[in-house]
Amino acid sequence: MKTKKSQRLFEQAKKIMPGGVNSPVRAFKGIGGNPLFIQSAKGASLTDVDGNKYIDYVGSWGPMILGHTHPQVLKAVQKTLKKGSSFGAPCELELLLAEEVCRAVPSIEKVRFVNSGTEAVMGAIRVARGFTGRKKIIKFDGAYHGHADYLLVKAGSGATTLGTPDSAGVPVEFTEQTAIAFWNHLASVEVLFREYPDEIAAVILEPVMGNMGVIPPKKGFLEDLISLCHQHGALVIFDEVMTGFRLSYGGAQSLYKIKPDLTTLGKIIGGGFPVGAYGGREDIMDLVAPLGPVYQAGTLSGNPVAMSAGLETLKILRKKNPYKLLEKTTQKLVKGIQQAAHSSKRNITVNQVGSMFTIFFTDQAVTNAETARQSDTAQYAHFFHYLLNQGIYLAPSQFEASFVSMAHTEKDIQKTIHASRKATIF
Ligand SMILES: *Cc1c(COP(=O)(O)O)cnc(C)c1O
Repeated sequence: MKTKKSQRLFEQAKKIMPGGVNSPVRAFKGIGGNPLFIQSAKGASLTDVDGNKYIDYVGSWGPMILGHTHPQVLKAVQKTLKKGSSFGAPCELELLLAEEVCRAVPSIEKVRFVNSGTEAVMGAIRVARGFTGRKKIIKFDGAYHGHADYLLVKAGSGATTLGTPDSAGVPVEFTEQTAIAFWNHLASVEVLFREYPDEIAAVILEPVMGNMGVIPPKKGFLEDLISLCHQHGALVIFDEVMTGFRLSYGGAQSLYKIKPDLTTLGKIIGGGFPVGAYGGREDIMDLVAPLGPVYQAGTLSGNPVAMSAGLETLKILRKKNPYKLLEKTTQKLVKGIQQAAHSSKRNITVNQVGSMFTIFFTDQAVTNAETARQSDTAQYAHFFHYLLNQGIYLAPSQFEASFVSMAHTEKDIQKTIHASRKATIF
């Protein structure tokens, strides 16, 4: 596969952009080699600047559940764009998307739109602190909630010590209000509530972990976690930036039939444009400015072009209800890959929920960040590059989710399974 143009652009980009990219995981550091520069995308495929075509299982890290350049979304965007791209004043599209989101996600009574998942999480945590009058939050080891200072945290040295910065430039004081618990391990949350009674404003979680690779909750874990939080007067924030409109129309919370107090959304609700949202119980959301004292604002928030892309995407998802089919297609894919590994006596663990999946190169069950970290990242890198060479684009890191979209065909799935069978790593 020739990638000369991508390589040349990457060399140029590195001279004027840190690492040549605008978001670190794009740089292929997790699997080695140079990133591809993408020229265009359509349906389930990407075409790079050298003219190579790939079956895309990244989908812009989740948003492209309909596939790329969906004609109805394009049409909606073009129509909106002609009327103006930003007003800094209310427009009806914001209301329409808000109605669509509130109807879809049962726990969201009121919603505020922002421009990214990071912003959505920052807003949700601020309003949770404003509502409870408490400072501390709990997050889970390995979960990603965007790049706010106090969320770039790694576990402290003991079970109840507070987190320490996981990035340069984050003062230790900023992470002192964040405690780390362990996924699928309720006792690790109980310990923190005992250590810091009446201090914890909220627990934030990805209801299906996606940012350490896919790690589902154990049966009953989410229910028990919610009751534990409420027992201690803390709020529960589901970060559904990835899982919202991905695992079901109402997100993970509809799939598992449970209700958090607050929810954050992003990715799919922007239909490929920069959008985030946070919402939840009305009595909590009414604290947000201008109605209440919790300040949060955005020049481009509720941008009409992004709203129309999101609205059209959600309407298509509501009408088509593709979730069962997506799950079946993804099951077929991961089964095929598992069989390929099995027939060459390789041990892999594939975690899948709906159309999200991760192939972990470990023979252990992956139930939390610690077990995920046992994976052989060099083997994943080898597998990734083998498939890439065959025109298949998986998540370029062991610790990320890959996604199946509505545009993936039976032929795409079979081609991917076939390539996996031939993969030398297997
Ligand atoms: C992607 C993601 C974010 C961050 O969203 P950005 O739009 O990249 O800021 C936050 N939380 C979760 C669960 C995500 O998957």
